[in-house]
Parts: sequence; structure tokens; C-alpha cells
Amino acid sequence: MANTGGHAIRNTEGFFRSQLDQWPLARENYRGLERVMLKDVPMPGGCLVKVQFNPARMRSSAARVDKKTISERPCFLCEKNLPPEQERILFDDSYLILVNPYPIFSRHLTIALRKHEDQIIYGRFADMLRLAAALEGYTVFYNGPRCGASAPDHFHFQAGARGFMPAEKEVLSLRRRRIAEEGTLLISTVEDYHRHMLVMEGSDIDGLDRWFNEIYGILQLMQGGPDEPMLNILTGCYGRLWRVMIFPRSAHRPAQFYEEGEKQVLLSPASVDFGGVWITPRQEDFEKIDAAIVNDIFGQVSLGNDEWALLLERLKRI
Ligand SMILES: [Zn+2]
Repeated sequence: MANTGGHAIRNTEGFFRSQLDQWPLARENYRGLERVMLKDVPMPGGCLVKVQFNPARMRSSAARVDKKTISERPCFLCEKNLPPEQERILFDDSYLILVNPYPIFSRHLTIALRKHEDQIIYGRFADMLRLAAALEGYTVFYNGPRCGASAPDHFHFQAGARGFMPAEKEVLSLRRRRIAEEGTLLISTVEDYHRHMLVMEGSDIDGLDRWFNEIYGILQLMQGGPDEPMLNILTGCYGRLWRVMIFPRSAHRPAQFYEEGEKQVLLSPASVDFGGVWITPRQEDFEKIDAAIVNDIFGQVSLGNDEWALLLERLKRI
């Protein structure tokens, strides 16, 4: 097992090549990814959603993540249950960096905590920033326990090859509204983006961590319970600047998920979908998804408009 000691992980490409060479399941699924169908859905306001028809993701899109199902299965992120072919890179002595054998990205990693602990980002956001700095060429993402994490009982991040999600570029080109500033840190939003997104940028890891905790606290109060507020997060590190995109949520799955027949759309939006790549395991959904469906579904699963306005007001006053 290689130990990075928290420094830049320069040889992820060698790690991938070795895994694709030695692990038939990973090799097959990465090859399969080269053949998946992709279509562009241009949205009003200038952003883009790419739709990926990826049958291998059925296990994730339709996964049962209720407590009973989770407690009855062997945890696939615990080290003792990893397949023998799966290689690991140790990060910060606390995480294992793994090749995700069911990819969405041409390079897709899962980063699992070495302990079997619940998926809760509170207290671990700075780890996400350090990881983003170490994984050059990747965007690190986090799915909350009720927002797409397929192992809500075992803390993990994922990372995908940078530049695949439209949001990574759109955040630079679309009109933004400043919400709060402090030193090098800036919080803004993108207007007319069909989903609510907070963008946090800065080069001070402690400042970013503190502001994240503020946002988390406000959302948790709004939600009115002790559980983690529903959210998805994308983080990239560009030189010395971190850019974090936070998507507060109000629902895990849209009404269409539970419909039958024509009306059904089997989609469980998570970080990558909010980043602008919609993953659908069924061809009929791939064909059906258009700008109206994208807008409707984002509207259902994003934080409600009233709560969003309240969140921005609170952030302006900090
Ligand atoms: Zn586990």
C-alpha cells in the first residue's frame, strides 16, 4: 500500500493502469464507459446538462439505502470486504483511495475513511479540501447520506476527472452574484441556474472550513432536526485556490422516480447530476429527458425558494 502522507498524488494514472490491467471487473466497466451514449440538453440561461445512458449504474440509481437494507449487507467500503484485486493508496493515514469499479468518469475514484463511520461531512470538510489539493486533475465530490450516497453508513468521498461536468466551466462564464466576502474568501451564486448553488472560493483552508460550518449550521437549523442537512458538494483546487460548489437539497428523489410507465424517470440526483451530468441507467429515460424535465426535477430536489432566500440573507449578515 502506497502512503502519500497527504502530499500531491502524482501517479494516479499509474494506479489506474495497474488496476485496469489486473482487475477484470474494473477493466470491463471502464471499457464499457467508452461506449455509453451521451447527449446535450441546452438549458435556457446558457447552461448545459449532459445526459449519460449508463446501464451499469442501475445498482446505484435504484439502490435501496434504507437502514434495514444497509445494515443487512456487508459494507463494500470496509477494508476487510474489498475484493483482493482492489489496490489502495493511503491518504493522511485515515483514508483509502480506491478505483471505483462502476465509473461515471473516465477516471473515477472512491476515497473511503478507514473506519466504518456514518456519512457525515461535519468535521471532515477540511479533509475534502486537502484531498482536492492532493488529487491534481480531479474534482472531489461528496454525496450526503440522504442525497445519493450508496454507503450512508461508511464515510467516503468520490473524485472524477476534472472538466467533465459542465458546472466546472459554467461557474467561470455565467453571471454571478456576490453574497459575502472576507479576506480572500468569496461566496457567490450563479443566477438562472435551474438549481440553487453556493460557490465558495478562497485560498485559506481554515476560513473555508469555518464558512462551510456556518452554512451547514444554517441549513441544519432550517431543516429543524439533528441530522445532516441534505447537500451535495463539488470541490476543485486550482493552484492555490479552492472552488467549492454546494447544492442544498430538499428531496433525494423526484416524484418521477416513484411513477410507473410513461411518467417514470429513474433518476436519483447526486453531486454529478448537480454538476450537470445526468446519469440514467435506462434508455427510455435517456431519450425522454429534455430541458423541461431537467428544470422540473432540479426544482423538486433543490432547496425550496423561500429557504434559499433565507439562507442568502443569513450569509449576508455574518
Ligand atoms: Zn464499512
